[in-house]
Amino acid sequence: MVQAKKALAKRSGRTKRQRPNTYQNYIGGRWVPGASGEWSENRNPADTRDLIGRFPRSTESDVDQAIAAASEAFDHWRLTPAPRRAEILFRVGEILIRDKEKYTRDMTREMGKVLKEAGGDVQEAIDCTYYAAGEGRRLHGFTTPAEMPNKFAMCVRQPVGLCGLITPWNFPMAIPSWKLLPALVCGNTIVIKPAEETPLSTYNLIKACEEAGVPPGVVNLVMGRGSVVGSRMTSHRSLRLISMTGSTETGRVIASACAERNAICSLEMGGKNAIIIMDDADIENAIEGAVWGAFGTSGQRCTASSRLIVHKKVYREFSKKLVERAKALRIGNGADPKIEVGPVINEDAVHKIMSYIDIGQHEDKATLACGGHHLTKGDHAHGYFIEPTVFTDVTPDMRIAQEEIFGPVTSVIPTKSLDEAIEIANGVQYGLSAAIYTQDVNRAFHAMNETYTGIFYVNASTIGAEVHLPFGGTKATGNGHREAGTQVLDIFSEWKSIYVDYSGKLQRAQIDNAE
Ligand code: NAD
Repeated sequence: MVQAKKALAKRSGRTKRQRPNTYQNYIGGRWVPGASGEWSENRNPADTRDLIGRFPRSTESDVDQAIAAASEAFDHWRLTPAPRRAEILFRVGEILIRDKEKYTRDMTREMGKVLKEAGGDVQEAIDCTYYAAGEGRRLHGFTTPAEMPNKFAMCVRQPVGLCGLITPWNFPMAIPSWKLLPALVCGNTIVIKPAEETPLSTYNLIKACEEAGVPPGVVNLVMGRGSVVGSRMTSHRSLRLISMTGSTETGRVIASACAERNAICSLEMGGKNAIIIMDDADIENAIEGAVWGAFGTSGQRCTASSRLIVHKKVYREFSKKLVERAKALRIGNGADPKIEVGPVINEDAVHKIMSYIDIGQHEDKATLACGGHHLTKGDHAHGYFIEPTVFTDVTPDMRIAQEEIFGPVTSVIPTKSLDEAIEIANGVQYGLSAAIYTQDVNRAFHAMNETYTGIFYVNASTIGAEVHLPFGGTKATGNGHREAGTQVLDIFSEWKSIYVDYSGKLQRAQIDNAE
């Protein structure tokens, strides 16, 4: 009996005398404890008895040291030729590939998403690393004719300087990579703060940078709370740019702090994404897309399909099949390959999601077609599990159809026409992703054109972005920037226009050529 218990504890990574791993900040090329000596415990959301490790609860002075290190490293890094910088980044990619399996398991353990999805998150970091490194031999500028004879005009990219990166917990390696690698190839130096809930995956990424030979001070990792570490970063005069992905509320606070000191601020924020399902859609395909979009990562994606706008001719059939599929999903610890839906991130998330389920039933008076329970027994007793939940008979104005729930909850909204469906899709404060299922090319193009989002899919779910296309949203989702694609270079570099006059005399633009 005792042996069986020990074996079980060993399998789940717990033994009685096991001391938790203790992690440190990375500043100026050294792993150092936080100045306060305080720690946050990182626990597995599928089983909170599983302590992953202790991570520094850093202070403002840790941030200041990291910024000083980034400042010291800046001149050397920016003057390192971009192809040389890229060689180091390619090595980061090789390390990520080598250790992908370990990173995947670490991520499932700290964030909860099922192994396949955690592997996808790491893969996205790999893709992003190679893509960004490839830019080391491009970073294209342009030449253009000058107004005057014997004058040459061109435009080149230069790094913006010291950058502060603040990231959320739901894509704990992919999102840091989306910011970090493009920033590095452009020649910036970095201070990065991961979400307190998922520091391990970012730690793994920074470890890979260290091993690959990124010089000391170029990348600095400071772990801790948004209100302390994040806040210090956003108000520090030396950080020329803050790039944050997170909620729209946090984005507003950060944007205000950046405005105070004229810092560049790039924000990727919340979403309330819609799939439109027309009466000519391949319903089975649409169901698969809806289930994957609504319940993958337990609905904790900025691009989650939280609204399903369904033509009334197929509404009953679609709703019935969706509920059958949602009920059949296996919920549990994502480390088990049979599991399809993992836990949500923490207790606060449980409260928030359950309060929206309550709002859906009692305030909005929608129909709770399936799910709605917080699972607390048996295999679910020690984690944060919520059943995949479908509301039907939802109207566009209901709170569950307007506000970001960020959990495994989706709303089915009936519609009578494509135009009405598009109006509903556009009728929220967010504008990240949207999709349509239809066999009619005219309808597909019409929706593509009229939907005001940063991303659009035809006959696919609202998720599935690839790293070589720009990613981001309109309205309250973003502030006009795009990550990924070559467009991310416009965040992490600034244009310098250069004029070379080889006429040997004064030539006055707008004056001499007008005469
Ligand atoms: P969050 O806003 O709570 O936190 C994001 C980051 O900001 C964390 O690192 C946090 O510590 C930090 N932070 C919090 N307060 C701060 C402050 N005052 N100053 C500076 N930093 C501060 O978001 P979250 O819960 O980690 O992530 C979920 C949210 O992120 C959702 O709204 C989701 O839609 C959004 N998200 C958006 C995208 C996108 O690309 N558009 C991608 C993923 C997640």
